[in-house]
Amino acid sequence: MAKERVVYDRIENYTKLRDIYLRHGINLTRFSTHEARKLLEILDTSNVQIRRIISNAKTIETKARYERIAREIRRITNEMAAGLDGQLEFDFMELAEEETRFVENAMRIIGVTADFDLPAPAKIWAAASFGTYSGYRSKETYESYLNTLGDNVFKTWDTNVRSGYLFGLTSQQINRAVLGSVKDMEPGQMQQLRRSLETNTRTMVSHLAETARTETYKKNSRLFSGYMYVGTLDSRTCLVCGSLDRKVFKGADPPEKPVLPQHPNCRCLWLPEIKGMEGFDDDDTRASVNGPVPAKMSYEDWLKTQPEDVQRDILGPSRFAAFKNGTDLGSFVPDGKTLTIEQLKQTIEFSGFTINEKWEDADGNIKTIKIEYGNEAGSIENRENSLYINEARRIEDSLKSYKYEVGTILDEKGNIVWQGSQGEYSSVSPPSGLVKDNIITHNHPMDGTFTPDDIYSFIMEQGLELRASTTMGVTYSLRRTETIDKSFYINYVEVVNEHIEPIKAEARSLGLSKLESDRYLARKLTKILDPWLLENSYEYGFIYTIENTR
Ligand SMILES: [Zn+2]
Ligand SMILES: [Zn+2]
Repeated sequence: MAKERVVYDRIENYTKLRDIYLRHGINLTRFSTHEARKLLEILDTSNVQIRRIISNAKTIETKARYERIAREIRRITNEMAAGLDGQLEFDFMELAEEETRFVENAMRIIGVTADFDLPAPAKIWAAASFGTYSGYRSKETYESYLNTLGDNVFKTWDTNVRSGYLFGLTSQQINRAVLGSVKDMEPGQMQQLRRSLETNTRTMVSHLAETARTETYKKNSRLFSGYMYVGTLDSRTCLVCGSLDRKVFKGADPPEKPVLPQHPNCRCLWLPEIKGMEGFDDDDTRASVNGPVPAKMSYEDWLKTQPEDVQRDILGPSRFAAFKNGTDLGSFVPDGKTLTIEQLKQTIEFSGFTINEKWEDADGNIKTIKIEYGNEAGSIENRENSLYINEARRIEDSLKSYKYEVGTILDEKGNIVWQGSQGEYSSVSPPSGLVKDNIITHNHPMDGTFTPDDIYSFIMEQGLELRASTTMGVTYSLRRTETIDKSFYINYVEVVNEHIEPIKAEARSLGLSKLESDRYLARKLTKILDPWLLENSYEYGFIYTIENTR
């Protein structure tokens, strides 16, 4: 039994980490769409400049005029290549930093509490830009690709200006051959180069991100014992990588080969294995195939395991509806959503981040619990491994159908310090002094999140965690961090006061009984208070989470 339990935790950690990485991968794709648009703008601006030069020339009658124009185009395309390179370096420095923080946060989520050393962005940029990534036909450095692109833009224009001179084409004809015509839906020769820049930007973004993660693992190699290759999530694009799927490479440092991404649109990744939480395999790589690792999964299979809000976010409303109706998704295509670096940073702070946990109820049944975290990176703490959490959940589960509030104080080891009730449906008063540095949980038969009174006594009594469970299988949790700001209570009261009267009036107009009206009030208020608590608690030194066992 003990052994099974260990294996089970390992799968949980592996699955959780994989989910975090895959969801983050989608956000990175969205960032790369944004980055590609930025770079395309630089390309397009240069093309507009060149078009103007050609238009002003009207016709290219003399060789001297051709040469003058060619020189101008050369100058513009050189500037363009330098401009693209500069923009890329600027944006990638930020991306590098963001990505190291992502690794740190992901590790926090699965319970790694050790200190992390984050490599400097400049070092990551140096490593990434010095090495090569998988361009379409060959290995490229960022610089060599952008220079080649500049050359190709020059060549495309030059060839057409030259034939303009030779065959007496008008400037309009030249411009049209290169840039195409939107009206007649002619793509023009530039189209191919634009597409190449777009694809390469995506590949460069994932290459930079992978480099940043790898450098972070290297810098903290004392924490890791191996790396698993996760591949074939999309059968059409990652066939190349299929044979490596779920292979484990043992060692503290990440493998130097293969370099990821292996090809454009490759969505393979390295999942680090944490020392002391080993679960990928025991002695050799073969073991992992039969060991505690979930079976091969397609991207679609994976998406099916995700909560609905994640599915909806990834697919967008219409494709989500089709997916729910059982339509085959086929290959994953980016949804066209974009994220700026700032927005990407917010996603890694796990704003409203939800993860699934498993826990055992009193009868030994394994239940899934969905946990929504508050707004800050710091909110991800190693609570899931704490000794009291399962005990607290078992008590809360057993109180679901109670009509009266029952309060329980647990110490950090999960021992019950006190339990009691006054037989009232909306209050319970534990004796003073017992809550200090302990966990207090109580049920809310009226449902809803914390009352201002709950928070007031929790702060005054210096408790460690405050929990309130509902009849619906939802538990609200508020934990203090090292430093708290007591004005949290005052501000919370203000939010409550701002909204309570209109809801009370609604309840009166519905002619509800006292009990029904209290329940109505608690539920309605919670819809307002939940987002407020998720967003603001951390600012005052508290961590708010919502656990849902439904
Ligand atoms: Zn791949
Ligand atoms: Zn309460």
